[in-house]
Amino acid sequence: ASCAAHILSKQPGGTLSDPPARQNSLWKILARILALARPYLLPMVLSYVGMTMATILNLLFPALIKLVIDEGLSGADQSYLLRIALLLMVLAVFRSGFLFGQSYFSEYAALKVRYDLRNDFYDRVQRQSFSFQDKTQTGHLISQFISDTETIGAFVSQGMMNVVSVVILFAGTVIVLFTFDWQLALLSMSVLPFVAWITIKFGNVTRPMYLRARDQFSRVNTVIQENLGGVRVVKAFAREPRETEKLDAADLEYLRLSLMPIRVWAWTLPMLVILGALATAIILWYGGSEVIRGSLTVGSLVAFTGYMAQLTPAIRRLGNMINLISRAVASGQRVFELFDIKNLIESKPGAIKLDDVRGYVRFENVCFFYDTGEGPEVLNNIAIEAKPGQVVAFIGPTGAGKSTIVSLIPRFYDVTSGRVTVDGYDVRDLDLESLRSHIGIVQQESFLFSATIAENIAYGRPAAPIEEIVAAARAAQADDFIQSFPEGYQTRVGERGSTVSGGQRQRISIARALLKDPKILILDDATSSVDTETEYIIQQALVRLMKGRTTFVIAQRLLTVKLADQILVVIGGKIVERGRHDELLALDGYYAEIYGSQLRDQEEMARRVEAAMAAERVG
Ligand code: ADP
Repeated sequence: ASCAAHILSKQPGGTLSDPPARQNSLWKILARILALARPYLLPMVLSYVGMTMATILNLLFPALIKLVIDEGLSGADQSYLLRIALLLMVLAVFRSGFLFGQSYFSEYAALKVRYDLRNDFYDRVQRQSFSFQDKTQTGHLISQFISDTETIGAFVSQGMMNVVSVVILFAGTVIVLFTFDWQLALLSMSVLPFVAWITIKFGNVTRPMYLRARDQFSRVNTVIQENLGGVRVVKAFAREPRETEKLDAADLEYLRLSLMPIRVWAWTLPMLVILGALATAIILWYGGSEVIRGSLTVGSLVAFTGYMAQLTPAIRRLGNMINLISRAVASGQRVFELFDIKNLIESKPGAIKLDDVRGYVRFENVCFFYDTGEGPEVLNNIAIEAKPGQVVAFIGPTGAGKSTIVSLIPRFYDVTSGRVTVDGYDVRDLDLESLRSHIGIVQQESFLFSATIAENIAYGRPAAPIEEIVAAARAAQADDFIQSFPEGYQTRVGERGSTVSGGQRQRISIARALLKDPKILILDDATSSVDTETEYIIQQALVRLMKGRTTFVIAQRLLTVKLADQILVVIGGKIVERGRHDELLALDGYYAEIYGSQLRDQEEMARRVEAAMAAERVG
């Protein structure tokens, strides 16, 4: 049977190729950002109270000046002036207290929101499935992690706050001015609708520009991250100039995209300033003639210009805030897009937790496609039965699907059809953590963290006592070289494991798997770039590691193949031959061919190394 029927039924969910949130409306995103601040309701309320009070006090200052001019100066009343001066000082003290509360509590809430958001972000990214990781660039994620959370925090502390404060200032000014002189108020405020129109209009224009600039910034990050990660390759091929050019091009594009909204904004400022001046001009001209006619006091005229002088910077601030809100919405859109990706690989409700497994693994008619859209199936009707303790070796050309087969056991990917079972349980019914706790994996490229060697070995069991760590290292033939380091097990491994050689790194990862003591073991047996003697040592370590565990090994070496209980020859996603070494040789098919072309030479080599080592031991 073929797997073709399943192509159509395969759900494309859980990928970045169909972002669900780009159509999310502005208000929905803002509401979601504000919801992040909900746990910090008290500091938020306190900061808003501080802001409101400070703004209201601000509204009193022009009114005090009006009193000074109209009452104090005209009545030549010195003590009245003193009282107003004192009142002004008292109000100023209160106002600064409120301002302190406003900025302290709002920054506090913003820092907390950023902290929560970063944690949440990291947590979600880490829990995403392998298909997510396949499609996502690290640089993109890092830039989201750093700059998007920053912008969202800035919105929480300043954005909303400033908008509300400007609204209060507006409302207050309107009320005060209308009680002074409603005609003058109406005239001078006639410019405000234009101000509002300009700020909203330009906000709409700039928002997509910010989004594009943000996306480009993460592209720059990706370039940097890849170049630094692949620095050895870059240097080996003397491609530094080209890589610098690549970064330069990406960065230049970022510069260009960032300048676009700024150019738009630069236009709004002069327009707003002119409108502000227009309002003042109207006050001086119309209000001045009212003073001459005697229908307005000098104090009111001065207070009017005072209020307008407060409004102008507030308008500008509102402009900046709309700018900040645009950026926060762009950031929120990207972050929430990621939050909304459904993780298809997670424990289902009521998943079974296995405390212990025997290591009985079966593949039943497994078909599999990678989630990349169309294309032929990667695995076609795979059937495997591995009894507890058996060694199953996969052999076949690169790209045949061997790694894909073994990645289905710890559920790095889910089968497209058929099922994979451990001790008779479908792996999709098992608790993911408990499933993976029974599986050990030694990869070809083993990753070491920048921690001590002991910590690296104990990665799967951080609480393991040092004796057990040493025992595992000894069994993995790693103890000797570890002891030879001046700091022994406490030697820190450099970035990307640079202080240890490839062969040493592999033995450390074998020790890591041994210490975890899993019932099911997955091995990528390809040892790259080690000499024959090291290879022999690693081989011995692997044999020890496989003992008593159901082992799936992607075999490159004859020794491993020979001791396998089953050899599965994989070609083009299908198992084309199966059996033990001798049986397959007798079959005289693919295996016999591979043996003849690749494995036989190793046999001779292994014999010689073994003889040499034996001679050394005797001598
Ligand atoms: P092998 O281990 O036998 O070399 P793989 O299982 O790595 O083969 O690959 C089988 C096929 O699946 C190849 O065609 C490869 O290009 C494709 N493939 C492997 N990994 C992925 C992935 N993460 N996403 C998409 N396709 C993949």
